[in-house]
Amino acid sequence: MIFIGNHVSVSKGYLTMGKHEQKLGGDTFAFFPRNPRGGKSKSVSAEDIAALRCFLEENSFGKLVVHGAYTMNICAAKEDIRANSREMLHDDLLKLQALPGNYYNFHPGCHVGQGIETGIEQIAETLAQVIYEVEHASGMPLQNKILLETMAGKGSEVGSTFEELKAILDLTASLGGEEIRGKLGICMDTCHIWDAGYDIVSGLDDVLARFDEIIGLENLCAIHLNDSKNVLGSHKDRHEQLGKGLIGADALKAVVRHPLLQNLPFILETPNDDNGYIEEIQTVREWMK
Ligand code: FE
Ligand code: FE
Ligand code: ZN
Repeated sequence: MIFIGNHVSVSKGYLTMGKHEQKLGGDTFAFFPRNPRGGKSKSVSAEDIAALRCFLEENSFGKLVVHGAYTMNICAAKEDIRANSREMLHDDLLKLQALPGNYYNFHPGCHVGQGIETGIEQIAETLAQVIYEVEHASGMPLQNKILLETMAGKGSEVGSTFEELKAILDLTASLGGEEIRGKLGICMDTCHIWDAGYDIVSGLDDVLARFDEIIGLENLCAIHLNDSKNVLGSHKDRHEQLGKGLIGADALKAVVRHPLLQNLPFILETPNDDNGYIEEIQTVREWMK
């Protein structure tokens, strides 16, 4: 089995997110701790976080996959955007120390003409630095694994190949110490890897074998389950509802049922309203059988 859910809004608080997801039929979810387009982080009470933790445990939810803001770019060419992004990452992770045992996923970033190498260096430096700072500020080890998301390779995005993601993990470990590896992982987005050129329609086993060879499947922690509006290798990043895009229902079903992907949280990021998510969650539950 897998855990399945979608993105929910944080606007009515943390416990409300859990209850809402349960109504949709899910048993994991994603949320943006701040407006996905950036802006201030929503303040949250310790009671509300504690209530959500109880709720998740009582209802046997899988790990949550919190999502960093889209505007966060820790390898931006402009110093002020980098600094601001680093602060967002720091604030999000510090806040999530109170919601342990989950995942914090983010887009590695866009190098904006600086080149992939520089992008990778800036991402790794910031990750090592921010983890150190958050652990010191909170007086405890990092409580949630940080996941790098596989990207479609749109524009100057870093992280659209397994090699680039591996390079970020390795450099972060060489800067921050080997034990930092256990604090990092990967979230695989099916739309993104398809758009990046990994053929999960006719070669899912090969793609996973390649992932294992380069990064190691033990580092694959979560899946974003999306269809794609575009063809293999298009580098576009336009999500589609399950079965309505160019990946298609059969291939997505094979992802859901793949023996190497069991027990992971799967997050839908498909264009849907609540009723659409209820239907897609039911579909995925059918596929699991
Ligand atoms: Fe994402
Ligand atoms: Fe995604
Ligand atoms: Zn996307």
